[in-house]
Amino acid sequence: MSLGKVFIPEPIAASGIDLLQGDCEIVAPWREGGELTESQQRALLHEADATIVRLFTISGDDIARSARLKVIGRHGVGVDSVDCDAATARGIPVVFTPNAHANAVAEHAVTLMMALARQVGPAWQAVIAGRFAERTRFAGVELAGKTLGVIGLGRIGSRVAQIAAHGLAMNVCAFDPVIDPQGYDGPARLVDSPQRVLSDSDFVTLHVPLNAHTKNMINEQTLRLIKPGGRLINTSRGGVIDESALVSALESGALAGAALDVYQTEPLPADHPLCTAANTLLTPHISSSTEEALDNMARDSAQGVLDVLSGGTPKHVANPEALQ
Ligand code: NAD
Repeated sequence: MSLGKVFIPEPIAASGIDLLQGDCEIVAPWREGGELTESQQRALLHEADATIVRLFTISGDDIARSARLKVIGRHGVGVDSVDCDAATARGIPVVFTPNAHANAVAEHAVTLMMALARQVGPAWQAVIAGRFAERTRFAGVELAGKTLGVIGLGRIGSRVAQIAAHGLAMNVCAFDPVIDPQGYDGPARLVDSPQRVLSDSDFVTLHVPLNAHTKNMINEQTLRLIKPGGRLINTSRGGVIDESALVSALESGALAGAALDVYQTEPLPADHPLCTAANTLLTPHISSSTEEALDNMARDSAQGVLDVLSGGTPKHVANPEALQ
């Protein structure tokens, strides 16, 4: 007997489909190459027992119209695209996949740091523009022995700290308000403020959630604390940086470089000042886009949905009150 109809509006990896197949009826028009309108998609959602979403938003109105909906699976970690309060009020758990992409994001942050250190972006541009002879402009800096500052030492920040300390022979300092220095046995030297991380580090990488405390935490004042020659990497959320202050710091040379994967506005408009700012390397929010992480996200979100539909307890629930 089928556990119910699972609506999957956007492509997910086969690992998730394979897990659901057999137990559920899968409604995934993209598998047949179908292009549905927004209202057709929403009509399918409103008839479903479960859904797994990537960027597809779920509003309070959708939840009110989805009489059969028992669980919402979020393929990823951020649940801001789902009206969690409305889901909680209806007793609908929102399951998500916090462990699926920590390594992918950490490796991307390290990739950006290494590319900044060796000016990989502008050097590549020079080669393909026939300016090979400009190679003397692209002297870099080495990472071994330098200090990496990590702000936010959760799943991703901890993995970055490990790679930097054990793989690149960097010194790592970090700030995270929830980590008790007494019980910490990782590779970072813990400091007592984000300001201290900024002033002590050659490279700073951000791994905090976006909330009222972290919004614009990198701003005109805090940017002044970064050492001459310091470089900044952000793969967390665009909102943690005041982007106009960042552009000014890059243009004045106060900051030697910045590598960003996330922006206040996404997609980043092509005429945004960051696109032409000095010593800047930009990627289009791809930190978690690896084959492995996409597989993990599909499998973990499908498992969460199956757990709820079969009467079990899902591992990761964004609104645990909904289970009570
Ligand atoms: P996590 O919850 O495991 O870790 C976040 C850590 O930040 C926590 O330990 C928390 O205590 C700490 N923190 C909170 N406020 C802080 C502050 N003011 N100063 C310093 N530390 C603070 O989360 P995670 O899985 O490591 O994810 C970190 C960030 O990466 C999130 O913003 C997430 O949205 C982002 N992310 C981005 C991508 C991408 O594709 N670019 C993918 C996944 C996650």
